[in-house]
Parts: sequence; C-alpha cells; structure tokens
Amino acid sequence: MEELRIQGSDIRLRPGKLVCVGRNYADHAKEMNSSVPDTPMLFLKPASALVGDGGCVELPPESNDVHHEVELVAVIGRRTRRVSPHEALASVCGLAVGLDMTARDLQQAAKEVGHPWSVAKGFDTFAPLGPVTAVSGADFPLNMSITLSVNGSLRQSGHTTDMIFDLATMIAYASSIFTLEPGDLIYTGTPSGVGAVRDGDQLEARAGNMPPLRISVTRPE
Ligand code: ZN
Repeated sequence: MEELRIQGSDIRLRPGKLVCVGRNYADHAKEMNSSVPDTPMLFLKPASALVGDGGCVELPPESNDVHHEVELVAVIGRRTRRVSPHEALASVCGLAVGLDMTARDLQQAAKEVGHPWSVAKGFDTFAPLGPVTAVSGADFPLNMSITLSVNGSLRQSGHTTDMIFDLATMIAYASSIFTLEPGDLIYTGTPSGVGAVRDGDQLEARAGNMPPLRISVTRPE
C-alpha cells in the first residue's frame, strides 16, 4: 500500500508503523487461555504487511493455521509523543476496520520459547485495512459493533466498548514508548471468535457504519 487515503478529506499519508495491542478484549484473552494484562500489551507489524480493500491475504508456506482477528484501526494524523489519554484522540485523523492476520501455529511456538511475535504477525498481506473514514476533534464516536464474516457466515461479533484499554489509553501508552507519526496505525485488538482461514475464503469485516473491508484468501502455488 503506497499511501493511505482518508475518505472525506484530501489527506494522503505514507503508511508508517503498525502498533498493535494484544489481549484487549477479555473474551478473546479467555479463548486463548491468556491472562488479561494490566498495561496494554503492544507489538509491531511492518507497513509491508498492509493490503487494502479488495485485496488478498496470501497464506505463507511457513504456516498451516492462519487466523483472522477483526479490529478497529485508528490512523494517526500528527506527530504524537507522551500525550495524556485526555489529549490522545486529537491525534487521530481516521478510523477503519482491519484484520490482524496471525499465524497461530507460529505464534504458539514463539510463546512456548518466549520469542517475539514478529514472524507470526508480520508476513506480507497480514494487515488488511478497510477504507479509512475521516474523523477530527476528540469527541468522535468510538462505540461501534465490530464483526467478521467468512463466506457469508458470522464468525466474530463484538463491541468496541468491551475493550480493556480504550483507544485514548492505548495511544497515550504507545506514545510514551514510540513517537507516533502521521500515517502510523493503531490496531486495537480483537474480540472472541478468531479462527483459521483457508484458500478461497472471502472475508468481510465491518465496524459501525464505516465501509466494510472485503478480502479474499489465497495460497500461492
Ligand atoms: Zn490482534
């Protein structure tokens, strides 16, 4: 993805780092037999993992168990360092629905030996991103349903108000570690119902009234 287009504005941003939050919904932490963290559990994905609406997730030969995780995604619009939660949402210029694709078998193997998740989470096409809706100010609505269907059947259904750490808290915390820059993305964690995808699957992700994200899954020869 060469640039992020923010619908309803003329903003064009070069995609930067993807700051992702793990275990941000209690029901998903439970299905993974994971404890709920007391500070946001962050990991990064490279911008090379992005793929836009209408694109393809390519299943890598290294994994036999690639899972979907539907997530609300925030686009950072200005340089942000050590903001308070109160100030944090003013840094957001857009929202979208996205998928944090995860090679669950590689992630499990990494967890067992205490290795990072960069490989399990970072393959090309492992960060589908839907059309970005412009937001501004600090009081845009953040309470929305979030769903994922595979081949027309509902697999994940949650609500962003069930996040353990809300977007403002997440941005404040992340900005205390990484300077956030225009074009950086915050993937805010997934509700329960994650599961494997297969060659030929058609995924449709939705968050609130924003335009959906449609992605197909292929296993290249
Ligand atoms: Zn995730």
